[in-house]
Amino acid sequence: MSTRQVAMVMDLNKCLGCQTCTVACKTLWTRREGMGHMLWNTVNTQPGTGTPHGWETMGGGFADGEARPGHRPALDEYGRDWAFNHQDVFFGGDSKERLVPNGGAYGKGANHDEDTGAGEYPNSYYFYLPRICNHCTHPACLEACPRQAIGKREEDGIVLVDEGRCKGYRFCQEACPYKKIYFNEEEGVAQKCIFCFPRIDQGVTTACSRQCPGRVRFVGYLDDPAGPIHKLVNVHQVALPLHAEYGTQPNVYYVPPLSPPKLDPDGNPTDEPRIPTEYLVSLFGARVHEVLAKLEAERARVRDGGESELMDLLISRKWLDMFGPFTRHPREAQPVHFHPKRQPT
Ligand code: SF4
Ligand code: SF4
Ligand code: SF4
Repeated sequence: MSTRQVAMVMDLNKCLGCQTCTVACKTLWTRREGMGHMLWNTVNTQPGTGTPHGWETMGGGFADGEARPGHRPALDEYGRDWAFNHQDVFFGGDSKERLVPNGGAYGKGANHDEDTGAGEYPNSYYFYLPRICNHCTHPACLEACPRQAIGKREEDGIVLVDEGRCKGYRFCQEACPYKKIYFNEEEGVAQKCIFCFPRIDQGVTTACSRQCPGRVRFVGYLDDPAGPIHKLVNVHQVALPLHAEYGTQPNVYYVPPLSPPKLDPDGNPTDEPRIPTEYLVSLFGARVHEVLAKLEAERARVRDGGESELMDLLISRKWLDMFGPFTRHPREAQPVHFHPKRQPT
């Protein structure tokens, strides 16, 4: 049991789908052999199959308090690391060829269904959903590991794999309902998002949040009354977990996206939002209705010249206020060493 819990809130109204977060994580933590296909942070276009391909249908997690059987994703379902046709384009190929990534069975690497929307013109829609490990309060990965190789830090609830203890049984991959734990076939160990703990330990926020140009990601402790997480989750109650029904009590929360109104056949706006609310409910639960209504009301208040603490918070004019106690510049911290290699037991 952890005494405190760090958490992240992502405001989906601001995500640009730029993948800066993905690259920030990739370049910092997953450059070792066997990590090429790993994207601890992914950003997918919704509604879509996500990463790994079809992850929401792969089981895992808990139902009625009992562990639910789960599928272990194959490399092609995650998306292999990108291989480009450099040879064809730069060395003797047809000069009209363009660089094309080849990322396995489902096409372009891990970013399945990129920018593929749903609905009929002019009412088509899509939005972006960034995902990392949820550092769950009831982690299915931890419970499934017969080696006790997965632990939850007491001081902040970050869930980590002890690579020295891991024997590569991969039950954690079957058990995680978010499919956010990867397997390094070169080293025979499970690996996952570490919530940038070497930075957190030094008061520096995570790389994916600090680099995000959309100011999408808030970081802090759930119980810190001065921090943004407590305000968004507990006070204003506009941040919701993804698929809470999976039973792991995730600690990443989302502010659901508003959308423009649907147009009727004459091109006039209707009362219906372009993104079907029922689709958002399927992701974030029934409270979506009240959260969207609250966001609309607060937005209208500001439009009418009023003040709104919630809108000020979400707009994030003061960028560093997004990171609770983790505002230190990475430059001022001790160099963050590359994720250590597996130590033999
Ligand atoms: Fe474990 Fe998956 Fe939860 Fe991360 S999201 S803590 S890998 S169960
Ligand atoms: Fe990667 Fe750190 Fe973000 Fe986790 S918290 S996805 S390790 S950058
Ligand atoms: Fe870009 Fe931020 Fe969205 Fe990541 S979360 S895709 S960095 S806007």
